[in-house]
Amino acid sequence: MTEENKIESLSTENRLFNPPTNVPGACIKSLEEYKAIYDRSINDMEGFWAERAEELLTWDKKWDNVLDYDFDKPEISWFEGGKLNASANCLDRHIKNGRRNKAALIWQGEEDHEVKVYTYDMLHREVCRFANVLKKLGVKKGDRVTIYLPMIPELAIAMLACTRIGAPHSIIFAGFSSNSLRDRINDCEAKIHITGDGVLRGGRSIPLKPNSDEALKECPTVEQCIVVPRANNEIEMVEGRDRLWGELMSDPEISDDCPYELMDSEDPLFILYTSGSTGKPKGVFHTTGGYMTYAAHTCQWVFDLKDDDVHWCTADIGWVTGHSYIVYGPLALGATSIMFESVPTYPDPARFWQVCEKFRVNIFYTAPTAIRALMREGDQWTKKYDLSSLRILGTVGEPINPEAWMWYHENIGAEKLPIVDTWWQTETGGHVLSPLPYATPLKPGSATLPLPGIDASIVDRHGKEVGPNEGGFLVINKPWPGMLRGVWGAPERFKKQYFEGFPGTYESGDGARKDADGYFWIMGRVDDVINVSGHRLGTAEIESALVSHHAVSEAAVVGMPHEVKGQSIYAYVTLKAEFDEDDDLIKELRMHVRKEIGPLASPEVIQFAPSLPKTRSGKIMRRILRKIVEGDTSNLGDTSTLADPSVVTDLIEGYEEIM
Ligand code: ATP
Ligand code: MG
Repeated sequence: MTEENKIESLSTENRLFNPPTNVPGACIKSLEEYKAIYDRSINDMEGFWAERAEELLTWDKKWDNVLDYDFDKPEISWFEGGKLNASANCLDRHIKNGRRNKAALIWQGEEDHEVKVYTYDMLHREVCRFANVLKKLGVKKGDRVTIYLPMIPELAIAMLACTRIGAPHSIIFAGFSSNSLRDRINDCEAKIHITGDGVLRGGRSIPLKPNSDEALKECPTVEQCIVVPRANNEIEMVEGRDRLWGELMSDPEISDDCPYELMDSEDPLFILYTSGSTGKPKGVFHTTGGYMTYAAHTCQWVFDLKDDDVHWCTADIGWVTGHSYIVYGPLALGATSIMFESVPTYPDPARFWQVCEKFRVNIFYTAPTAIRALMREGDQWTKKYDLSSLRILGTVGEPINPEAWMWYHENIGAEKLPIVDTWWQTETGGHVLSPLPYATPLKPGSATLPLPGIDASIVDRHGKEVGPNEGGFLVINKPWPGMLRGVWGAPERFKKQYFEGFPGTYESGDGARKDADGYFWIMGRVDDVINVSGHRLGTAEIESALVSHHAVSEAAVVGMPHEVKGQSIYAYVTLKAEFDEDDDLIKELRMHVRKEIGPLASPEVIQFAPSLPKTRSGKIMRRILRKIVEGDTSNLGDTSTLADPSVVTDLIEGYEEIM
C-alpha cells in the first residue's frame, strides 16, 4: 500500500531512442551541453535569463532589475523598468534586419487552393493599419479587446495590432457558445469585440456572428463590434455598433504607419482562459517582457528553429499553443509560420501530410488527440505524401500514450526524427518540461527533462520531495519569465490555485513521477487520481496500457465507487476503425492491462465509446466521465467547454445499459 500522499506507478515502459547529436548548427548539440547550460541556469538564474532576454528581443530601454518575486504574496516581476513592444519585436525589427520580403505567415485555408502568404512587410502594414483602426475607434493602451474569429489571417493581424497599441487581447476560441463568450467578455470588460460571420470546418459552415449578437446583448462594456466575413453568410449588422473589417481598413484616413506604444515589461500583453478540463476556466494573464522572452526562448531551443525553417503548429490560435507557437514565438524569431484553418481529417485523413509536403514543412507540432485520431484511420494515409522535409516533430496537450508516440515515430518520423513531447500549461506561457531535439535521449510517453531555467520537483502532500519513480505533485520552485502574473480580476483565486497548496512553489495541478534518470512522466491530473484499495493510481498509465492493445485508439479511465476497494477502475475505450465491439474483446483488454501493468490496474468495467467528451482544445474531460459513473449526471458541473455535448448523452445511455 502506498502512503496517502503519493501516486503509485505501475509503468514498465523502458524504450530509449537516442537523438542525432552534434548536428551542425543545432542550438544545443548534446546532453552534456544541455546539462552544463541547465546547471548554469539554476545557479545563476538571473544571469541566464538576462542573457536570453537580451539576445532574443529588442528592448527600447533595458531593464533595471531582472527579477523580483515573492510566491507567498504572490508577486512576480521580470525585467522591471525595461521597455519594449511585442508587435515591434515580431515585425519592425525583422523588416530592418533583411527579412522584409520573407514569408512570415503562410495561411492555408480550408480548401487546398486557398493560400495566402504574408511577408513581414505585408504583415507589418496590415497590423499598422488595423492598429490605426482600433485607435480611431477609441481603443487606448490598457483597454481590452476580445477576438472571436476562425483561423484566418485577420486573427493574427488583430492580435498584433492590439499589442502594438498596448491593448491586451483576449482570444476566445471560435467553437465556444454565446454564453461562454459572454462570460469571457464580461470577465475582462472588453471595449471592442471582433467577430466573424462564420467558421469553415471540415466542409461545414458554422455561423459565428449570431453568437456574438446573443452575447453582446449582455455585455455592457462593448462599444463596437468589428465583423470579418469569411463564410459567405448573410451578416446582420447592428446599427451604431457593428462595422465591417474591410470598410474600416480601406478608409482613406487610415495610415500604413502606426508608431508602436512603448510598454513596460510588466504591462499585460494578453488574457487567455484555460481549457477548462478541471472546472471553471481561469482568465490567465501574461505580461510583455517575460512572456515574449519565454515564447522566443522555448521556440528557438525546443524546435531548434532556424531562419529557413517552415514551422507548423497545428493548434488553434484560440489556445495558448497557438499564441506562443504560431504567432509570438516564431514571429519574434523571424521565422515562417503556417496557419492552418481546417481539421486533420478534411477532405481525408492525409490532409496534414499533404500540407507538410506542399510547404516542405520542417517542424511539425500537434496534439495527442490528433495523432490518435489519425492512428485510428490506419497507416495508409501517412504513405501518400513525401514527408522528407520534416526535421522535428512535437506534441502537446495531454500525456501521449507510448503507443501513439511509436506510431508517430514510425509513420511520420521515419523512425529517426526527434519528437519533442512538451509539457506546459496556459499558465506557463511556454514549454516547461521537454526534450531538446538534438540533445535529449527520448523515452516514449515522457516529457523528459526540465528546460534550462526551470527548477521543477515532484513532492508529496506535505511538499517533501519524493524518491525516484514515486508519483506526486508536480511543482515549480522558482519563477520563470513566461509564468502567469495573475488571474484577471481574481487575485485570491490566483493565490489559492497556484501558491497555497505547496507554499513557496508554483503548483501545476498535474501528477508526475521522476525516474532514476531524472526523466519526468506525467501521470495525469491530480484531481483524476483513482484510489483502488488504498493504491493511488494516475490515469495516464492505465489509459496507455489500454492504448497499447492493437484494437484500441483511445481510452479514458475514472474511479467508480466500490464497496470494498473504495474505488474501482471504469474504462471508456475507443476502438480503431476496423475493430468491432464485443464481449471477448472486453475480456481480452482486461487481461491485456493485467499483463502490461498488473492486476491492480485491470478495469472492473469497460465501456466502448465511439467518442469521448473532450474540451474544445481536444483534452479528455475525465471530470464528466467520473460524474457518470458516480451516477451524478444531474450535476455535471461546468460543461461549457465541452466540444460536443451529445457525446455525454450517448455515454450515459451506454453506462445505464451496462450497470
Ligand atoms: P483547466 O486548467 O481550466 O482545467 P487545462 O488544464 O486543460 O484547463 P491548458 O492550460 O490548456 O488547460 O492545459 C494544460 C494541461 O494540459 C496541463 O496541466 C496537462 O495536464 C496537460 N498537458 C499539456 N501538455 C502535456 C504533455 N506534453 N504531457 C502531459 N500533459 C500535458
Ligand atoms: Mg489547467
